[in-house]
Amino acid sequence: MNPVLNPRWRDICLILIVLLAVPRALPQDATPTSETIDLVPLAASATATATATIERVEHNVLHRPIELIDDNVHWIDRTYTYGDTRLNTRPAHLGVEFVNERNTAVYAAKAGRVIFAGEDDDTLLGPRLGYYGNVVILAHDLRSLADRRLFTLYGHLEKIDVKAGEIVDDQARVGRVGSSGVAIGAHLHFEVRVGNPFDYRNTRNPELWLQHYLEHGMIVGSLRDKDGELLAGRRLTVRTSENSRDVFTYSGGVVNSDPVWRENFTAGDLLEGEYEIVVLDENGALEHRESIEIEAYRSTYVDIVLEN
Ligand SMILES: [Zn+2]
Repeated sequence: MNPVLNPRWRDICLILIVLLAVPRALPQDATPTSETIDLVPLAASATATATATIERVEHNVLHRPIELIDDNVHWIDRTYTYGDTRLNTRPAHLGVEFVNERNTAVYAAKAGRVIFAGEDDDTLLGPRLGYYGNVVILAHDLRSLADRRLFTLYGHLEKIDVKAGEIVDDQARVGRVGSSGVAIGAHLHFEVRVGNPFDYRNTRNPELWLQHYLEHGMIVGSLRDKDGELLAGRRLTVRTSENSRDVFTYSGGVVNSDPVWRENFTAGDLLEGEYEIVVLDENGALEHRESIEIEAYRSTYVDIVLEN
């Protein structure tokens, strides 16, 4: 039988044509601002107009944004990680801290273009004006597998060394550590944003984007109830026989999971080896325990579902 003559086949073809013609919905954070930036590769020059591309990348590609000398702290401060509220005493954290002495050099995590450099007194970049103090935002020629262009933000700077519009090299100095804006003590507040870089609701966990340390890996995980809902603000302990670290799941609100990982906690900078993850309830009773192997230079995913 000739399918072209069969009305059922004709109907199926018509449905397919209609489906293909429906425009795909834009991501929620698509705005004219990010669209304009998205269309122009940063490194485009007269000789490389047709070939310049924005690289589509997986995670863990950024350098630590602190000058690489031994005296400096390149580790993320574990007392106030992404999505944490310090036991409801602070606003949900939209970045991570590198706690270093005032005037420590702050480096670009990747080559990029400066799209903002100055005080945020007149430009809303956070929950309120003046939140980040002296702040730099870089646009990178990087695009997440599931998202739009990647941006990095460097807040609370003592001094800014770049100007808007400037192209900066990988690990170029963009400023100095300080405590401008809403900051307790000198530290670098570092953010990763996707989509519209001027909207603080577009952050992602920077730990997912920073390179792994030598012989270190990380846990990326989700903690859910029996209905599959992510549990906010819960404490987990990641431990070996010698070491133990408390990790908190993301508080709700403006804290975002990565669209690829769909995580609600991370534990980065873990030396390769065997670990145990423990979840206790509010009364300290054991709710869940499991072993996990951390491989160097890898992110190991764990999905924990609590039965009660
Ligand atoms: Zn911070």
